Amino acid sequence: MCAAIYAARNGAKVTIIEKNNTLGKKLSMTGNGRCNMTNLDMREEYYNPAARGRMKEWLSIYGVEDVICFFKSLGVVVKSEDGYIYPLSGQASTVVSALENEIKRLGIEVVFEEQVKGVDALDDGHHYELVTNKNRYQADAVILALGGLSGAKSTMSTGDGYYICQKLGMNLKKTHPALVGFKCSDDEIMPKAGVRCTAEVSFILGNEVLAKEYGEIQLTEDGISGIPVMQASGSIAGFIEDGKPIFTSVDFFPDYDESDFKALKSDMLRLKDDRTLEEFLLGFYNCHVNEMIMRRMKLSKTMKMKNISVSMAECILDSYRSLRLRLESSYGYKASQVTSGGVSLGDVGSDMAFRKNNGIYCIGELLDVDGRCGGYNLQWAWTSGSIAGTAASL
Ligand SMILES: Cc1cc2nc3c(=O)[nH]c(=O)nc-3n(C[C@H](O)[C@H](O)[C@H](O)COP(=O)(O)OP(=O)(O)OC[C@H]3O[C@@H](n4cnc5c(N)ncnc54)[C@H](O)[C@@H]3O)c2cc1C
Repeated sequence: MCAAIYAARNGAKVTIIEKNNTLGKKLSMTGNGRCNMTNLDMREEYYNPAARGRMKEWLSIYGVEDVICFFKSLGVVVKSEDGYIYPLSGQASTVVSALENEIKRLGIEVVFEEQVKGVDALDDGHHYELVTNKNRYQADAVILALGGLSGAKSTMSTGDGYYICQKLGMNLKKTHPALVGFKCSDDEIMPKAGVRCTAEVSFILGNEVLAKEYGEIQLTEDGISGIPVMQASGSIAGFIEDGKPIFTSVDFFPDYDESDFKALKSDMLRLKDDRTLEEFLLGFYNCHVNEMIMRRMKLSKTMKMKNISVSMAECILDSYRSLRLRLESSYGYKASQVTSGGVSLGDVGSDMAFRKNNGIYCIGELLDVDGRCGGYNLQWAWTSGSIAGTAASL
């Protein structure tokens, strides 16, 4: 939509071919229905390593301020929440409707419920034929904005773009679900009810800490999710898919340094009296997490504290700083917010054109670019869309 608008504003006659029955289905679900459009704290290191080297240039062509100005030109007022940019309306549907209105205003034709199957370069070398399940369209330029594999079924994210690009001779980097939670293989200790709590989570392979994140996590009957887990997921999902043993170590007291925690423990140990272990832990932390700890340490909740040694009581409290869970698999593409991997960036130039055939452009999630949670993936969609839309219309 963004690419189409930039191309049409530049005078091109544009047609959008969409296999869904509506535009911007995924966009309307973003940011929990509020659409986190971009972020004032924009840095190339917030993207996957393969993209970082190119991101600086692309963000300098079209960055955060350009996104804000673009939406201002569509009449969308935005607000910042700690740098996270949302439409002031608090509704992702505002963003979708504003784009749709501009598409209508510019006379862009939209064809719904047609699936692009492939793109052929015509013999003259300057024209392309786009083949769908119903029609053939000729064009001077084609922008492939087909997304990845992430998102609910209704978003139609079935990875068609990968196959189409591969047929054109583009290289694909293996894909993984990213910004996603994980199933854990610790069924015997996982809480029966979901728990949300602030924690620091470390992701470990052997002795190596692959990632460390802080924030609100969610523990459920079968796994762990939440923003910090999603943030780390891009760098660990590949290891898990390759069968590597990845553990997460959860620190439930991330805001306590060693001496604070020592003081807290000695306060707690004064309560070592007639109460049961369950009663002792009651006010220490969330009862569902307490149960996880007791199950992990194979301790009965009815044990009397006076029968537990001081060192054992300390050991119980210390375990809240490093509860280890084995990650079994991610919750998969449908539960993920973005697909890591995709069309290799080596195949596209600065203007997003395919190097071997520069009337074909690739943008958005289809490319090997994935960012952290916080508006970085939509920033990439706007950046790559505006650059390609402008270039294709020249
Ligand atoms: C639940 C959820 C929440 C998210 N929240 C945020 C957020 O708050 N902030 C953020 O920055 N990012 C967020 N993201 C990520 C962001 O939505 C994506 O990175 C972004 O939408 C990618 O844009 P795109 O245009 O490349 O692909 P998409 O938005 O997936 O669009 C691709 C379009 O191509 C169409 N299509 C696919 N194949 C074909 C075909 N063969 N023929 C014709 N049409 C086809 C699809 O129907 C779709 O309309 C979220 C993602 C999800 C799933």
